Amino acid sequence: MSCMDTLDIAMLKDKDTEEKNEDKSVEQALKDSEERFRLISETLPVGVFEADEKGSLLYTNTRWQDIFRLSLMDSLTVDWLNFFHPDEKDRFKSEWFESLRNSISYSRECRIILNDEELRWINVKSSPVFSDNGIRYVGIIEDITDRKLAEEELRKAKEQAESVNEAKSVFLANMSHEIRTPMNAIIGMTGLLMDTPLNEQQKDYADLVSLSAHSLLNLINDILDFSKIEAGKLELEEIDFDLHTTVESVADMMAVKAHEKSIEFSCIIHPDVPSKLMGDPGRFRQILTNLIGNAIKFTAKGGVTMRISLKEETDTVAAILSSIEDTGIGIPREGADRLFKSFSQVDPSTTRKYGGTGLGLAISKQLVKKMNGEIGVVSEPDMGSRFWFTALFKKQPGIQHEKTIPKESVKSKKILLVDKNDSSRESISTHIGSWGCLYEEASTAAEAVEKLDKAACEKSPFHICIIAQMLDDMNGEDLGKMINSNPEHRDITLIMLAYFGLRGDASRVKEIGFSAYLPKPVKRAQLLACLEAVIENKSYLKKPHQKKVLVTKHSLLDSEKHNMKILLAEDNPVNQKLALKLLEKFGYSADPVSTGQEAVDILKKKQYDLVLMDIQMPDMDGFEATAVIRDKTSGVLDNEIPIIAMTAHAMKGDNQKCFDSGMNDYISKPIDAQLLIEKLKHWSWVKHS
Ligand code: ADP
Repeated sequence: MSCMDTLDIAMLKDKDTEEKNEDKSVEQALKDSEERFRLISETLPVGVFEADEKGSLLYTNTRWQDIFRLSLMDSLTVDWLNFFHPDEKDRFKSEWFESLRNSISYSRECRIILNDEELRWINVKSSPVFSDNGIRYVGIIEDITDRKLAEEELRKAKEQAESVNEAKSVFLANMSHEIRTPMNAIIGMTGLLMDTPLNEQQKDYADLVSLSAHSLLNLINDILDFSKIEAGKLELEEIDFDLHTTVESVADMMAVKAHEKSIEFSCIIHPDVPSKLMGDPGRFRQILTNLIGNAIKFTAKGGVTMRISLKEETDTVAAILSSIEDTGIGIPREGADRLFKSFSQVDPSTTRKYGGTGLGLAISKQLVKKMNGEIGVVSEPDMGSRFWFTALFKKQPGIQHEKTIPKESVKSKKILLVDKNDSSRESISTHIGSWGCLYEEASTAAEAVEKLDKAACEKSPFHICIIAQMLDDMNGEDLGKMINSNPEHRDITLIMLAYFGLRGDASRVKEIGFSAYLPKPVKRAQLLACLEAVIENKSYLKKPHQKKVLVTKHSLLDSEKHNMKILLAEDNPVNQKLALKLLEKFGYSADPVSTGQEAVDILKKKQYDLVLMDIQMPDMDGFEATAVIRDKTSGVLDNEIPIIAMTAHAMKGDNQKCFDSGMNDYISKPIDAQLLIEKLKHWSWVKHS
């Protein structure tokens, strides 16, 4: 062997060893990689599998075997798709194979059944992989049984709660209806009874029945509202309403209560406040009534002032700030925190002394929240309280807020306001100021005389003097007499600002020389009508033979009232009688019918201006009757006739149901007489305008 040969052999040997070493390291690397894969796969908390293109399993990890309760061998031999729930098996199979065919990833939550009885939930996710051996599918399986059970329990609990809530609200609706129907009769009939001649004792008894019936109704309303809040059923309406009318009707109602306690009540609506809004007027009234009711309840002397102003506005919404100020007992600081919580009264002895449930403010707070507003109080013990709240309302689209524009003759007038109460003067000056009148104020008769004399002396006399009935140094009538008897002031028109219409006193007041009688709380429209009327009266006077007429609340109202033909559909004989009497009391009359069918029949023969429609009636209910009336082919003479629902269904949604069925308005029982009359006036006005 040559040297050369020896070298070659040595080199070959080296190469061989090198290749062997290389093989070894590749082998080792493979081993390592396999070991790593095994380690990862076996410790993963999810099942891992590999399947061929037919779906047969080629590999499963221990977790996979645990989930299906199978051994390694069984997992690779049995058809795992047989474990799927019968309802899902076919769908899973077809979807999975479809994804295999299209080589796209797949994911689904599905049920499997183990040992023929145990139901489990799994989440399968798989994706195709492409290798030299063709397509393989690798995937993971998670056991999601615990999560699914928890979800199921939550769903059941929710369903249960919903059905309890549903039952609660059905119960509430029924109870509300059942209670209101007899309450309507009790309150209404007592009111009518009190208008008949009674001796003192009978009057006392009737007063007591009326008082108790009203507190019972308040209590029932509070409890029903509170239960509605608890049941999550408190929802607000969103209907067109007139804010000024709503506020003024509350003011009228509350003024009666204030008068009973001999305290002042004033209502000041800032002229900027838009009136044509959308929201829930009934609930807005409720908050105002509650706050004013409390203010009157806790005030023994002085007065209560309601102020409505505009907090802010955009083209579409307006935030209205309402505040109710009293000069009553006030609230200590430590009590203020508890105020808006349910069943809470500042001082437990309050219940004995003033009555109440301690629910009013809690309910108001919830209502204000629903109106996207806030509620609060500022108070000083023994000085008084100021409760305030904001509420956001949409503006009625397409309607610009129009400020009242008075006749030219009103604008140029110079007016003296004489009243000891600042708020009362403010309730007039706010308006007349915005109408361009010149005005001055006096809080006593002496101050008034001084101002009148000075103005006359300066040759810039007052045209009109508005005098409150009661002043500290003299009563209003006497001041009127004094002014009238002074030749310097002969041309001044006098207006008496009185607590109530005081019908019997009208002729005496006229005798003294007053031209008009303006009731407190002053309403913007009435104030303007009154000023315009007295100014016209004055100019009449210049013409001979024309008699001067005293402008009173009644003459102002009468001019608004039309001779309406009303049809009343009401099946309950007591409520029918009550409604007829109420209408009669306010100078209206109606033809009564007892079913929807009778209403439809008579509307085919006779022309009416308006229908008051009960909902629950035998034969044909109010909804059905309305549908027939609105049907152009029904033969009813006026398919557009205004229909006001009059119903004991006072739950949210009933209102909407009435509108949806084609009715124009809604009034709930027990009937608020004032509200009913307002609605009649409104619809009569709509029909005649
Ligand atoms: P109720 O008046 O039915 O008891 P509210 O929730 O309306 O219930 O009022 C709760 C409590 O707040 C009252 O009992 C009273 O202690 C206090 N409160 C409310 N308004 C006034 C107020 N204007 N002046 C003094 N205290 C008031």
